[in-house]
Amino acid sequence: MSRPAIAHIRLDAFRHNYQLAKQAHGGKALAVVKANAYGHGAVQCANAIADEADGFAVASLEEALQLREAGIQNPILLLEGFFEALELALIVAQDLWIVVHHAWQIDILLAAKLEKPVQVWLKMDSGMHRVGFSPAEYASVYAQLSQHQNISKIVLMSHFANADNLNIVHTQQQITIFKEAVTELNAEVSLANSAAILAWPQAENLWSRPGIMLYGADPIQANLANLASKTEKNPLRPVMQLTSRIINIRKIAQGEAIGYGSIFTAERDTIVGVVACGYADGYPRSAVTGTPIAVDGVMTRLIGRVSMDMLFVDLTDISSANIGSLVELWGDLVQVNQVAVSANTIAYELLCNVKRVRFVYSGADE
Ligand SMILES: *Cc1c(COP(=O)(O)O)cnc(C)c1O
Repeated sequence: MSRPAIAHIRLDAFRHNYQLAKQAHGGKALAVVKANAYGHGAVQCANAIADEADGFAVASLEEALQLREAGIQNPILLLEGFFEALELALIVAQDLWIVVHHAWQIDILLAAKLEKPVQVWLKMDSGMHRVGFSPAEYASVYAQLSQHQNISKIVLMSHFANADNLNIVHTQQQITIFKEAVTELNAEVSLANSAAILAWPQAENLWSRPGIMLYGADPIQANLANLASKTEKNPLRPVMQLTSRIINIRKIAQGEAIGYGSIFTAERDTIVGVVACGYADGYPRSAVTGTPIAVDGVMTRLIGRVSMDMLFVDLTDISSANIGSLVELWGDLVQVNQVAVSANTIAYELLCNVKRVRFVYSGADE
């Protein structure tokens, strides 16, 4: 038997979430499949919605080429554009769209000899202060590009720093700043990531850019805070179910400790299960005792320190558990967001980090 750690990727759920994102937003949706589709497999995810996706977004030329080589013909946007002039020939040949966020990119772009003009998504820094042109210079940069033979079309774009937080005014300020800076410009607009699709309908824009919600994780902070008490069902479907199996069971007496650092000491006589999954598979080492885990469909808790290849689970109250019992680290019973909160991180990071496990795909044909 091979190692039982498996990431089940349900492509029908991915498709469902894409349709839901698009419906919720009401415009066109670029499915964000950067970082190997947040760890789910970019080619498989893109193929699953290629017949209906308005386009895809990735972080690099390499990620885009992987999709083109797999036969994806939909538009693909490079979210950081190009990093050096050499990339432009392939960008044009492969018909990719590029974000332009800095003056050095414009210098290269306008000096280049291109076979065909390219589509540019011109990025404004409306308040995140990461990349993009300032609101004050935006219209003049737009004018410079719009007259140039190397540019076929310009989409106006910005990104939110706090769309996942409903309690602060920053997103509304970003929307206002953006709108004021583009009033004179007559072009398509792209603003919304997943959180903005879900929480900021006033960010009117034609092109949304959903990422995390396509994988079934709700990014809204208020919902994360209420994970345990949340009664209404998340309309998003989790795409990844990370499972493994129990490979050892031991009884330890009250007062005995387990694992590296002996950070967990049994409060009572405890039945401990050892699960074949560790931080080298992407399960976070920072997850604390008490992090939810399901064994044979019953909720229990992580105990002790996660090691590279194994972790401990409390089986004291699960009498059915045995060697070979199925363990869900996250997926359907355990929300990846719950594990993220327990590990002081976000679902994005957990999903991106999944590796070494076997990937099993289902639901490709509808
Ligand atoms: C990654 C990314 C997105 C997707 O964000 P989610 O929060 O995953 O929906 C959208 N836009 C840009 C510019 C990004 O870099």
